[in-house]
Amino acid sequence: DFGLGSWPARRARITPDRTALVENDRSLTYAGLADRVERLAGALARRGVRQGDRVAYLGVNAITVFETLFATARCGAIFVPLNYRLSPTEIRYMLDDSGASVLVHSGDTAGLVAAAGALPDGAVLTTEGDLEHAIAEGGPAPDTAVGLEDPCLLLYTSGTTGRPKAAVLTHGNLTWNTVNQLAHLDVLGSDKALCIAPLFHCVGLGQITLPTLFKGGSVEPVAKFDPGTILARIGEAGITSFSAVPTMLEMMWRHEDWDRTDLSSLTCVLYGGSPVAERVAQAWLDRGVKLLQGYGMTEAAPGVSMATHEGTLDHPVAAGVPHFFTDVAALGTDLTPQPLGGTPAELLVRGPHVFGGYWNRPEESRASFVDDDWFRTGDVVRLDEDGWAHVVDRVKDMIISGGENVYPAEIEAVAVRLDEVDACAVVGVPDPRWGEAGAAFVVLRPGAQLDEPRFRAHLEQHLARYKIPKHVLFTDTLPRNATGKIRRVELRTLAAETLT
Ligand code: AMP
Ligand code: MG
Repeated sequence: DFGLGSWPARRARITPDRTALVENDRSLTYAGLADRVERLAGALARRGVRQGDRVAYLGVNAITVFETLFATARCGAIFVPLNYRLSPTEIRYMLDDSGASVLVHSGDTAGLVAAAGALPDGAVLTTEGDLEHAIAEGGPAPDTAVGLEDPCLLLYTSGTTGRPKAAVLTHGNLTWNTVNQLAHLDVLGSDKALCIAPLFHCVGLGQITLPTLFKGGSVEPVAKFDPGTILARIGEAGITSFSAVPTMLEMMWRHEDWDRTDLSSLTCVLYGGSPVAERVAQAWLDRGVKLLQGYGMTEAAPGVSMATHEGTLDHPVAAGVPHFFTDVAALGTDLTPQPLGGTPAELLVRGPHVFGGYWNRPEESRASFVDDDWFRTGDVVRLDEDGWAHVVDRVKDMIISGGENVYPAEIEAVAVRLDEVDACAVVGVPDPRWGEAGAAFVVLRPGAQLDEPRFRAHLEQHLARYKIPKHVLFTDTLPRNATGKIRRVELRTLAAETLT
C-alpha cells in the first residue's frame, strides 16, 4: 500500500513524536494519528467498507476529516467530502451519484442529513460519538493492495452549470501534486500550518495541508473562517503557513487588528481560486509576508502553476510558473495542443497529478481532454516574457461584444483599483445592437461615495472603449460560493431581469 492511507504510518516511522494535527486544546502526534487511523480503518472494514467503496463526509474542518480521509484510504475506499452549505436536495444528489455506503457527519449537520433523507441507520456515523467509539474498539485493518492509480477522492467541482460532477483523484494524483508543491515551496517539518480553506475543496487539502503532513509538520484545521481569530492565532501560535482564497486575505487586511498583529512567523502564505486585487496582494507583501499565488483546479489535484519566493515581488499578481511535473500548452483553433505564449488562449495541462475523468460521466470525461491526455482547463491564460502565467479569465465568462472579446476579469481588476470600490463583477447581457453587452455590478466600501460618471471615467482612463460595460448597477453584495468565487450565473439572470 503506497496510497494516502499509508502516510500516517510511514510518517510515524520517521517522526513519531512530532505533532501532526492540532484542534483547540487537543493535539495528535504522528504515532497517535497512525494508531487512530489504523483502528478506524479496521472499524470501517468491519462495517463492510471494501476497496473501491465510497465514504462520504459532511462537516467543518476538523481532525476527524483527516482521520476519516486516511482511514478510508487505508481501506482502499474512496473519500467523498461534501460541502455542508449545500441544500438537502444537493446533498441527496451527491450521496446517490457517488453511491456512498457510509456517511460520517458532525452534529451540526444533523438537520441537513435528516432532511437529505440519507443512508440506512448503521451506515451513518457522527463525528462526536460514533467515530470515537469506532476508534476505541477498532482493530488493525486488513491488508489492501492500494496502488497509486487507484481512486482516493471524489471531489465535486464547484461547477456553475448543470449537474455537479465529481472529479476522481487517484492516490497518485494527490502524491504528485504534493511533490509539485514541495518543489516550489520551502515547507519544513517544523512548520505550523493553518488549514483555513474548506477540506471539501482541493485548495484546502492540496495546496499546503497534504504537503505539510508529508513533511512531518503540523496542521491546525480551522472550523470557521473569522479574520480576527485567524490573526490572533498567527501571532499566538507562531503559525508559519496557510492557504486561503483572496477574499480571506482581503478580510484579514481590512480587520482592525491587522496593524498590531505580529506576522513575522509567517514563511509562506498561499492563495488562489480566483483573481486577487492588486492592492490586497500588495498589502500583504508590504508587511514582508512571503505571499505566493497558486493557480489550479480540482481536476489537477489542484496545482498547475505557482509563484516562487524569488520572483513574486516582480510579479505580485501573476500565477507563477508551471509546476515541476506539469506540462502546459494552448488549445489551437484546430483543437490540438500548441505552444503557449504571450497570446491569451485556452490552457491545456497534463501531468501525473491531472485526473483521468469524472465519476460516472464517460462523455463529459472524454470531452474534457484533447490529444489523449491534455486536460482542457476552460481558462484563458497567457505567459509573460519571464514565463509566468497570467490567468486572463474563464472561457465561459468571456463576453463577445460587437465581435470583440471582452474579459470581465480585466475590467474588474481595473474597477477595484478605485478605493471606493469593494468588489466588482462584470457579466454579459443580451444586447440588440452588440449581441452582448457588459453589465458591471459594483459594491462600494462602507460609507464610500461614488457615482456612475466617476466610475466610468476611471474605467475609460484605463480600458479601451469597447471594454467599458454598457450598464452599471450598484449593489450591496455579490453572490459567492464557499471558496469565494462569484456566482456569475445568478448575476446574469439578475442583470437580464433588471435591464430588459
Ligand atoms: P474549481 O473548478 O473549483 O476547481 O476552481 C478552479 C478554477 O478557479 C480555475 O479553473 C480558474 O478558473 C479559477 N482559478 C484558480 N486559481 C486561480 C488564480 N490564481 N487566478 C484566477 N483564477 C483562478
Ligand atoms: Mg472548474
